[in-house]
Amino acid sequence: MEYGIPVTVFKLAKNEKEAAEFAEHIGFPVVLKIVSPQIIHKSDAGGVITNLKNKNEVQDAYCKLLENAKKYNSAARIYGVLVQEMAPQATEVIVGAIKDPQFEQTLMFGLGGIFVELLKDVTFRVAPITREDAAEMITEVKAYPLLKGYRNTPPTDTKAIVEILLNTSKLIMDYPEIKELDLNPVMAYKKGAKTVDARIILE
Ligand code: ADP
Ligand code: MG
Repeated sequence: MEYGIPVTVFKLAKNEKEAAEFAEHIGFPVVLKIVSPQIIHKSDAGGVITNLKNKNEVQDAYCKLLENAKKYNSAARIYGVLVQEMAPQATEVIVGAIKDPQFEQTLMFGLGGIFVELLKDVTFRVAPITREDAAEMITEVKAYPLLKGYRNTPPTDTKAIVEILLNTSKLIMDYPEIKELDLNPVMAYKKGAKTVDARIILE
């Protein structure tokens, strides 16, 4: 990606045969996701199927995704199905941006899942941020000890997360028309980090 934000390899399939071909090309296992402007939270609509190990599983998943999407919203326009490289399990973090009416472009950071949804354990900075700001954001969430490594959770490459925060800051400063941005989740590894889901809303 131009802004140095690492993402998984992906391709948009328009039918199940294409999905299976793309999957073979990307390499198994893969993840399939519904692509529709009416389905923003894909998992809520049964729109994400992970860990597909062969062509048959991919073709079945393709049909299942379309079926689930129809059930969820029969009027939803379906652009196709994203075939994506399956990223290894990791600590999931979220990098976000919102345009605050008072402070303008603002960055958000937190850990994924219950940490953001249930505990609202997130932190904000007005953009543009410095490297020091980015490092501070990471240490100031309550769940920070998890990123340092705790019991079954391995330590993560916080430098890689700092880079993503800095690059996201650059991106939203260059494109003031971005109203909302969500990298959710970013998989944080022992070495490196990778975005598996991104959403940008323009004004
Ligand atoms: P949404 O947020 O719209 O429900 P996501 O693309 O974030 O959809 O997928 C839901 C969850 O599935 C993610 O939080 C992540 O845990 C898992 N997931 C999605 N894509 C991948 C991938 N490429 N590799 C591994 N896990 C993934
Ligand atoms: Mg997501």
